[in-house]
Amino acid sequence: MKTLFERIIAREIPAKIAHEDEHCIAIHDINPQAPVHVLVIPKRLIARVGAAKAEDQAVLGHLLLAAGEVARKLGLESNGFRLVINHGRDGGETVPHLHVHLLGGRPLG
Ligand code: AMP
Repeated sequence: MKTLFERIIAREIPAKIAHEDEHCIAIHDINPQAPVHVLVIPKRLIARVGAAKAEDQAVLGHLLLAAGEVARKLGLESNGFRLVINHGRDGGETVPHLHVHLLGGRPLG
């Protein structure tokens, strides 16, 4: 069964896309916790950061580069922003497909 994000990547579910390239897609979160809340998602399924393997190294690095690029594109670079990755139940993970939260647009407590 596909994950929610695989279905978004396949355009089976609509999303507001902030960025897309060969390795990842970035979409605006449906339930934003800040004025800017974007999810940067690898196209190849990695369930969560603690399940990533050595062969995922380039994709993991790519997600951070893409998050920085999206932050610049959305005007967050000068005031700042936060990147968050939730792993597992206690981490608050709800979608079992790795994603980096990019949050900004207000001071974050
Ligand atoms: P996490 O709790 O770290 O697994 O994050 C999952 C995120 O996906 C949450 O912030 C949700 O608001 C977001 N989300 C759930 N469904 C959608 C959707 N259809 N489009 C965009 N974001 C979504």
